[in-house]
Amino acid sequence: MATGKINVSVENIFPLIKKFLYSDHEIFLRELISNATDATLKLKHLTSIGEAKVEYGNPLIEIKVDKDAKKIHIIDQGIGMTEDEVKKYINEVAFSGAEEFLDKYKDAGKDAGIIGHFGLGFYSAFMVAEKVEIITKSFKDQPAVHWSCDGSPEFELKKAKKEDRGTEIVLHVAEDSTEFLEDSRIRELLTKYNKFMPIPIKFGTKTETLPKPEGAKEEDPAPTKEVDDIINNPNPAWTKKPADLKDEDYKGFYRELYPMQFEEPLFNIHLNVDYPFNLTGILYFPKLTNDLNIQKDKIQLYQNQVFVTDNVEGIVPEFLTMLRGVIDSPDIPLNVSRSYLQADGAVKKISSYITKKVADKLSSLFKNSREDFEQKWNDIKVVIEYGMLSEDKFFEKADKFALYPTIDGKYFTFEELEAKIKDTQTDKDDKLVILYASDKEAQHSYIEAAKAKGYEVLLLDSPIVPHLMQKLETSKEKISFARVDADHIDNLIKKEDTTISKLSDEEKEKLKGEIEKVIDPSKGFTVQLEAMDSSAQPFIITEPEFMRRMKDMQQTGGGGMFGMGNMPDMFNLIVNTNNELVGEILNTKTAKKRERLINQSLDLARLSKGLLKGEELTNFINRSYDMIK
Ligand code: ADP
Ligand code: MG
Repeated sequence: MATGKINVSVENIFPLIKKFLYSDHEIFLRELISNATDATLKLKHLTSIGEAKVEYGNPLIEIKVDKDAKKIHIIDQGIGMTEDEVKKYINEVAFSGAEEFLDKYKDAGKDAGIIGHFGLGFYSAFMVAEKVEIITKSFKDQPAVHWSCDGSPEFELKKAKKEDRGTEIVLHVAEDSTEFLEDSRIRELLTKYNKFMPIPIKFGTKTETLPKPEGAKEEDPAPTKEVDDIINNPNPAWTKKPADLKDEDYKGFYRELYPMQFEEPLFNIHLNVDYPFNLTGILYFPKLTNDLNIQKDKIQLYQNQVFVTDNVEGIVPEFLTMLRGVIDSPDIPLNVSRSYLQADGAVKKISSYITKKVADKLSSLFKNSREDFEQKWNDIKVVIEYGMLSEDKFFEKADKFALYPTIDGKYFTFEELEAKIKDTQTDKDDKLVILYASDKEAQHSYIEAAKAKGYEVLLLDSPIVPHLMQKLETSKEKISFARVDADHIDNLIKKEDTTISKLSDEEKEKLKGEIEKVIDPSKGFTVQLEAMDSSAQPFIITEPEFMRRMKDMQQTGGGGMFGMGNMPDMFNLIVNTNNELVGEILNTKTAKKRERLINQSLDLARLSKGLLKGEELTNFINRSYDMIK
């Protein structure tokens, strides 16, 4: 038996490890299983090149919890270590890693972002154990060794009896870490971190039902057998070639990733690149709702099939964090803070590669199956519109496949739309006016008025669409968006031929005065007289585009003016001076009748804009009954 002192300048390194890694004690298991996996894969390599003359077989890694003895065992059948190797790799290499880590992050103890992702390796065992043992036998023909260390820099090394090749790590779980002696807790960790690691991991056994033997009776129970409970899938879909996968396989993997998700993904994107960085993965477009916030943080980041985090902020562009799936890359530096990550050259390249792949996939879907793409548009538009707003590179590509649905269920690209409406919807100043509605029901009468003129009306209802319109208006020439209820249709698209007013200026003046007398000023209507087609409605309430859009933008954050969200709504009351009823209002002899006509017309206009509610609506209904009695 030999004892020795680990060569380290900090005497009390173990309490430090505990303290620094306080928030992330659970990663010890991930680290130890990673080492076991590395050792097994190394053996695989050495046997394949003929350097290790042993049988590789079907090795697995076994995790055992002995609650009574307060021990956790991690057992592998990998290359193992000789005595010299233990001295070198455990006492020197592993320890120097731990020391370097502490040195580097002495002052950053509270930044969980750094600590959590730093692979501290073997010594992370001391976060949960008061004593650690290594019993290991190398694939080389040398005696097995037994190393143990109780958390002080002193260690003990002696010969061991172990016959079979590989390494067993025994953790004597510390008093403050007994949670890790619960099977359920260990299973939870295995599922979180090791679900897709490349070597099978056994945790206990499970009962498997076998098919009934030939000639068995109906009432005979099916035979069962105890089998190893393998918690991982060593060959997850993303590690395979896209050509070897069918649509079903992608869907199956989605269910594996999100067992609680019952909705199927819309489509997937297989990422696969090895130069200038290494990255594989599968991203899925889920069905999205308009609520953007709850859908983030579903993409999982792996490093060589080891789960690292589900916070991919900085690695995946913001607009794509709404997707789901897996990204696996050994090239993403994890032992750095998030802000550093965003500035890292390799990470920037990864981010733009992912953006490009997503744009290409969407573009090919659009080209190859337009109908399908149109059907999915409603579910994917949020991501695309958000991407167009936030990434110029993406905008350039998406501009060719982003769709603009009309009220009648047609879908145009911007280019198609432009061609379609150019002749009809260009105003006298040569500006193309794109009409849209945000609510088919509420804006019905305005939509009808626009359609009567032969105009196309888009249905744009996602929450970020006001921002996107702003972006389109500034990046394209001579276009503007106008919601159908922003003004009277003739004012939204102004043409040369202005209709002649039936009323003289004097009459108009008088009419305006009469109306303003009746209308309650606290309602905030601005009365505006317009000579329009005599068949157009007498009173129309409109909501000016600019102010309304600013308010909308304010609600989804940014873009608008400060404090706009608290502004009262502003409405215009457009009075059609050429409508017969308006003429009657002007010419009515009795003030009482005039007042009634004005109130009734105003209420009808408010009703059509969805503004008439409560007591006013009741009064309106009663008044209407009185009139038809
Ligand atoms: P890293 O894995 O990053 O090299 P670790 O601290 O996790 O650092 O491990 C240090 C070294 O100890 C490993 O590089 C390996 O040589 C050796 N080692 C650890 N665990 C095992 C194991 N289960 N089997 C064989 N060697 C191991
Ligand atoms: Mg390691």
